[in-house]
Amino acid sequence: MRIARFTTDEDPRFGVVGEADGVSVIAVITGDPLYAGIQLTGERIPLDDVRLLAPVLPRSKVVGIGRNYAAHAAELGNEVPDEPLVFFKPNTSVTGPGDPILYPSFTELLSYEGELAVVIGRICKDVPAEDAARVIHGYTVANDVTARDRQKTDGQWSRAKGADGFCPLGPWIETDLDPSDLRLTTTVNGEVVQDGRTSDMVHKIPDLIAYTSSFMTLLPGDVILTGTPEGVGPMNPGDEVSITVEGLGTLTNKVVSRD
Ligand code: MG
Repeated sequence: MRIARFTTDEDPRFGVVGEADGVSVIAVITGDPLYAGIQLTGERIPLDDVRLLAPVLPRSKVVGIGRNYAAHAAELGNEVPDEPLVFFKPNTSVTGPGDPILYPSFTELLSYEGELAVVIGRICKDVPAEDAARVIHGYTVANDVTARDRQKTDGQWSRAKGADGFCPLGPWIETDLDPSDLRLTTTVNGEVVQDGRTSDMVHKIPDLIAYTSSFMTLLPGDVILTGTPEGVGPMNPGDEVSITVEGLGTLTNKVVSRD
């Protein structure tokens, strides 16, 4: 099931994305499915008539995982860590599909990182890897936007990874997906710059959930970014960046000048 969050110029609502008479439509849901389950209102709206929003607004945290693809760690001259390298992006960094990424004044090297994102579905702590599937609500696509120069010069990555608009999510949450071996591609202005497979993750999703939940409680709506494959590079004002995960969808955002 594909669950979208959307607006028709009113308050954000949720819906299930599907087909009706050959047209993509959203079947509207009552409330937030993370907390209220799936209750259809009966209203259907053509997908073309809505504006999709970030499919989830994390109440507490976006957890980032660094250097989780060996070829990406190597391209930046880093070792693969023995344990997952965990960082945070604040929920204020989350933005939606189609929203602009504002190029901040504090960086001269803004980079895309195409990633598969895991959305947590229930409060949990100390989750064994073999039980991880039970706490997953679904999956979406993320751009772990990074100010690469500030990542190197700042002692912590709060600014380099956590600025407003640095976590585009979307286009929706797919609840029925085997994430273990999916193709992930990133394009900049239509040119393929990343082309990897989730099977190349060093630490797999169940292990990431087991590790992160071993030291902090995960809440419904928390998001875990699972790392990026090789091919990271700059994005500049005017560039359109699209990240596609097989079986899930495409997240597209445009970089906008700070001037
Ligand atoms: Mg990343």
